[in-house]
Amino acid sequence: MIRTDVIVIGAGLLGCFTARNLMRYPLDVLVLEQEADVCRGISKANTGIIYPGYDQKPGSEKGKLCVQANEAFDRLCQELDVPFVRPGSLMVGYGPQADRRIRRKFDDGAAGGVKGLRLLCGAEAEEMEPALGHGVTSALYAPGTGTLDPWELCIAAYENARANGAAFRFHSRVERIRRLADGFEVETEDETYRAAVVINAAGLSSDRVRELVEQPRLRLYPTAADYVVLDRGVSGAPRHIVFHEGEDGKGLTLVPTIDGNLLLGPTTRDQSEEEQTAMDMRVDADGLAWLAALCRQVAPGLDLSAQIRTFGSMRPNPFYVTEKDGVILREEKSLKDFKLLEEDGLFSLIGIKTPGLTFSNELGKLVAKKAAERTGRTALRADFDPVRTGIVRARDLSEEDWAARIMQNPAYGDVICACMTVTRAEIEQAIRRGAADYEGVRRRTGIGMGRCQGSRCRRRVLDILGGKPRD
Ligand SMILES: Cc1cc2nc3c(=O)[nH]c(=O)nc-3n(C[C@H](O)[C@H](O)[C@H](O)COP(=O)(O)OP(=O)(O)OC[C@H]3O[C@@H](n4cnc5c(N)ncnc54)[C@H](O)[C@@H]3O)c2cc1C
Repeated sequence: MIRTDVIVIGAGLLGCFTARNLMRYPLDVLVLEQEADVCRGISKANTGIIYPGYDQKPGSEKGKLCVQANEAFDRLCQELDVPFVRPGSLMVGYGPQADRRIRRKFDDGAAGGVKGLRLLCGAEAEEMEPALGHGVTSALYAPGTGTLDPWELCIAAYENARANGAAFRFHSRVERIRRLADGFEVETEDETYRAAVVINAAGLSSDRVRELVEQPRLRLYPTAADYVVLDRGVSGAPRHIVFHEGEDGKGLTLVPTIDGNLLLGPTTRDQSEEEQTAMDMRVDADGLAWLAALCRQVAPGLDLSAQIRTFGSMRPNPFYVTEKDGVILREEKSLKDFKLLEEDGLFSLIGIKTPGLTFSNELGKLVAKKAAERTGRTALRADFDPVRTGIVRARDLSEEDWAARIMQNPAYGDVICACMTVTRAEIEQAIRRGAADYEGVRRRTGIGMGRCQGSRCRRRVLDILGGKPRD
């Protein structure tokens, strides 16, 4: 039996940021994750946008968190050494209904304190963003919209939580939770743990994890999403993040990513039966065709033949449910706001959809504070260190700096991935920092993310993983 103060279930963005912020308090914290590494759930497959907050109801908890988080993002990324840019966004409409919705978002954003918003006419938007096709009827410009690599942020939060003392156990699926007089007993296949507080950040399974101790109240009914990634330097790409607001409300998002690719997506569609049972993240050919058709309207000059990758995701849509004669009945409407349920020391983060990436640190802070209050240990640690340093990437170095690195560590001269310029030194550091498999190395270094998608370098990475990294 292992005792700790707080157990966090799930090592996605929310679990890792909750753990990071819990370490501001004098608490023993253990994170249990069923997979081999962090960031293997929803956090691995999203649009990577740091939203300004005009999409949320002004004054709502979600809206306030988002605006606050967006403003604090540069500082967060400096602390965690995560590359982050703010290309700004244009939400573009093509008709009267879209124009009305864009106007409403402008009003909501202004009321919610989003800075720098501007309403533009179609001609102004087309002038600001030459990649747009003609026919834009109005647009909302938000200079504060940003983008980053969500994996890198999640990994940084994990490393910083660990450096401050949080423990992580992988391959540890929580299967049973029992409420005790003074806390909880939590069981995985191999171990039993005791803690005063349990934080359920289990993403798509957060409803079922909660039901290990509580009656059904909220259930997730996921819908699927498809994405396409275009190669770096693709012609016809926008400089801004572009949200296309269709007349029916459904639209396309184009994101010039931090690595120079262009991300298109996401679609919204019901899951296939296979996806429902596998909770897998696949792509759907109709969804991809829909994206391509919208692209031809929004950014007609875009070279769609430069596609290098597709991926799928799942949205954890929460619905209230009631149980009648053993049957779960779902209410009509999905909850718009997220739910942080607090039930006698069990905190459940259920249905945290967009903008969960944007406010992951802020929400983590909020949950950590509540958990600390529950344990009565609210004095802040003087030795908490919010700073983490990332892996130095050869592709970000000047020629002189790269040469100097090679002098210190010759593995910086051994380029394993030519598409993304990733060296053996970076792969070895990724392994030392916790990458247990190819996927973990890929997420920490960007290897295999270029044009060849790993077909030329995967073998060598597996060889390095199989042997011990050389110093
Ligand atoms: C399609 C899509 C696009 C999005 N785009 C954006 C965006 O651009 N900007 C933005 O701000 N937000 C965006 N979001 C929202 C954001 O991605 C999520 O809010 C966030 O990733 C949720 O993280 P999480 O930690 O709750 O879940 P996850 O990342 O799914 O983490 C949950 C973890 O719990 C683990 N787990 C589950 N059950 C157990 C168990 N029994 N025992 C142990 N471990 C368990 C899982 O393996 C997983 O690792 C998007 C979401 C979606 C779906």
